[in-house]
Amino acid sequence: MSRSVIIEQAGGPEQLKLTEAQVGDPGPGEIRIRHKACGLNYIDIYQRTGLYPLPLPHALGMEAAGIVEAVGEGVTHLKEGDRAAYAAVPPGAYADARVMPAAQVCPLPDGISFEEAASIMLQGMTVEYLFHRTWPLEKGQTVLFHAAAGGVGLLACQWARSEGIELIGTAGTDAKCKLALDMGASHCINYRETDFAPEVKKITGDKGVDIVMDGVGKDTFDASLDCLKPLGMMISFGNASGPVEPVSLLTLASKGSLKMTRTTLFTFLADHDRCQAMAKHLFEKVESGDVKTNIGQRYKLEDIAEAHRALEARETTGSTVITL
Ligand code: NDP
Repeated sequence: MSRSVIIEQAGGPEQLKLTEAQVGDPGPGEIRIRHKACGLNYIDIYQRTGLYPLPLPHALGMEAAGIVEAVGEGVTHLKEGDRAAYAAVPPGAYADARVMPAAQVCPLPDGISFEEAASIMLQGMTVEYLFHRTWPLEKGQTVLFHAAAGGVGLLACQWARSEGIELIGTAGTDAKCKLALDMGASHCINYRETDFAPEVKKITGDKGVDIVMDGVGKDTFDASLDCLKPLGMMISFGNASGPVEPVSLLTLASKGSLKMTRTTLFTFLADHDRCQAMAKHLFEKVESGDVKTNIGQRYKLEDIAEAHRALEARETTGSTVITL
């Protein structure tokens, strides 16, 4: 038997229900994995609230680490007994064990613990594609990164420092700003107290930044365009404050022939080889010490509703791990 968290309808944290079910055997291209730890991510909230609709009822959770118990026909990159970790669809990672497609599950090096892996697979591979696969970034360039003390944010601060990229962060409290600075941000603006666009102009000597990476969305999108240099690149990748309103293309012209994309990690992970390469790159960054994991808080699986509430209430820092 395995515990699993499901929703029967979209809504608040109270919709998260702990159930028990038998876990079967893997079919072709699948594995059965016994989890040691799971990750909590903002996408779990979008799925729970219905912003990203799922067919219901549905299990939740997009990330976990554990031990492979059985492999189905055709799976060659994993075998029974392997340590493994993943960020992958379909949702269902908030569970003791599950059967799932193998392609996006990655062998986990011995030097990275299960909890560490559960804290970095989704957020770390996001930083990997933001810095290496979305837009060519060069040493010395400047990035504005919102919610810099969050799960993705603290990994981004360190990643930027290790690549010689100047990262100007934003965060919601002075304590969060201090954390981002400690992790490698060159500046951090408390955007609940200070308008960040004029501040970014001041920091960059009126030039603006080369790239914005914005996971906050509705509240930060418009002012972020004002932070970019002419020909700058806006990467919108999240909606923690709500989805971004439709944008007129003419706005991009009038603000300096800006470029814009809205990315999702799962496009990058859909290709097996690319997914495995991204995970390998992430593990190398962690094992080299360039990027340290930041588990800000842990919750038991039975306290998953409280974990969701805290993430939505902006009470967390770094990554959140769900223990089993
Ligand atoms: P975080 O740990 O960063 O938590 C979200 C943070 O957003 C909060 O802590 C808060 O930080 C900030 N925030 C600003 N406004 C609000 C608001 N109104 N309500 C809630 N939070 C707010 O989460 P993650 O690291 O899991 O994800 C960060 C963002 O990146 C999310 O939007 C997520 O969806 C996105 N993401 C996108 C991916 C993609 O490929 N497209 C992949 C992974 C994540 P503060 O208090 O400092 O403002």
